[in-house]
Amino acid sequence: MWDDVKHVIDTSQSFAITSHVNPDGDSIGSALALCEFLKAQGKEAVVAMSDAVPMAYQWLDPDREMMAPVDEADLNQITAVDAVFIVDVNSWERLGQLGEPIQHGQAVKAVIDHHPYRELITPHSVIQTEASSTSELIYNLIDTLGGSMTKRAADALYTGILTDTGSFRFASTSPHAHDITARLLDHGVNPAQVYDLVYNQNSEARTRLMGQVISNIQFAGNGQVAWLTVAPSMIEKTGALPEDTSGFVDTTMTISGVEIGIIFVGTNEGTVRISLRSRGSKDVNQIAGSFGGGGHRNASGVVFKGSIEEAVEAVTKVAVSAL
Ligand code: 5GP
Ligand code: MN
Repeated sequence: MWDDVKHVIDTSQSFAITSHVNPDGDSIGSALALCEFLKAQGKEAVVAMSDAVPMAYQWLDPDREMMAPVDEADLNQITAVDAVFIVDVNSWERLGQLGEPIQHGQAVKAVIDHHPYRELITPHSVIQTEASSTSELIYNLIDTLGGSMTKRAADALYTGILTDTGSFRFASTSPHAHDITARLLDHGVNPAQVYDLVYNQNSEARTRLMGQVISNIQFAGNGQVAWLTVAPSMIEKTGALPEDTSGFVDTTMTISGVEIGIIFVGTNEGTVRISLRSRGSKDVNQIAGSFGGGGHRNASGVVFKGSIEEAVEAVTKVAVSAL
């Protein structure tokens, strides 16, 4: 399974590793661990992301070695490498500012991902939808190719698995995922400390915004569809940051009877960032897909062009009909 990736590594000297817009714990964790692995093999490697690293993950990169968000000079450097690894995503569009330059650049491209794909962007791909996270796949890669596991790489992979499994509660939490995290603890990961760094560093502004957003929750389909809306003005008034809404949607799924939970976050650019969550067989990947987005069966997202009201009207209708 890793032969193709091994060939890319063996035949290249300089690497860039990138992932999707609005990077999360798994994209950052898997990219940083792969970068560490490549450097340990005597290669030159950098991680580059279109958007900034959220506060919750900055501790993984204390010396700010990641290029995130990328600037013009970073793009020049990235397009000059021998090979680019694209992790935790397999669509050019979701690479943001990096999509075009990488797609049209000379570098060999390889994808390592666990999302169901519609667009196979390169033949050098390892896509395993059963994997809990891309971090799990990077662990398998390091384990198979035989590299040392630094504490930094172990922290990064643990963070990726922790966040993508919703702290080991999503259906994707497999025996293998637990087995890997056990081994990461052997490499020095402190689970209480990682949890605290990732989840318990919220600002007062985020907490106030969350209170307002949750108090305005709405329901349809006999309480089986729940949704939250966040207008840009709410974010501005509380002094919160746009990325502070991350995780809010999960509160909809804590309510008894809710099968599909959605959050609509308006932007000042006339778009709405939508995140969807579901229980069991309810497929929100399909719902997001019908609006041009994607993700997994129980967690998906899409960017909608229009107002919050239009997005709510259109998406909740499809969600109710999916019950
Ligand atoms: P979240 O709601 O946490 O941002 O994303 C949940 C899942 O949906 C993630 O696996 C993510 O990759 C996917 N996702 C989120 N937004 C988009 C989007 O705009 N397009 C696609 N194709 N997938 C998305
Ligand atoms: Mn992931």
